[in-house]
Amino acid sequence: MQYCCPQFFNLCNEAGTRGVGLIVDASETKPAFFLQWRGVEVGEDTSSLSSALPLELATELGILFCPWCGVDLNKFYRKCVGQMSRPHLRLSRSGPCADRRDSDSSDDQ
Ligand SMILES: [Zn+2]
Repeated sequence: MQYCCPQFFNLCNEAGTRGVGLIVDASETKPAFFLQWRGVEVGEDTSSLSSALPLELATELGILFCPWCGVDLNKFYRKCVGQMSRPHLRLSRSGPCADRRDSDSSDDQ
């Protein structure tokens, strides 16, 4: 499989680990690409963590173009997106990120 650039390849290999990774989700009608930041790795036990402040342990941002070389991701990867797809590494859409988006939009009013 050919990647658009070494930076994109490296982030695909970092998916699900602590730090920044790239997640591809081809489980829906149109494949989606996400930059994901994780404070903990997938599967790490976070039950002992506590904080007086609300902390985000992971977040993700959808992207359409490669941030380094600029290719249109859906066009470049259309033939191999199924191989790259790892929807199980995505954050839950009903989790804390979704809740925060809901409250952010109500702040705009
Ligand atoms: Zn690229």
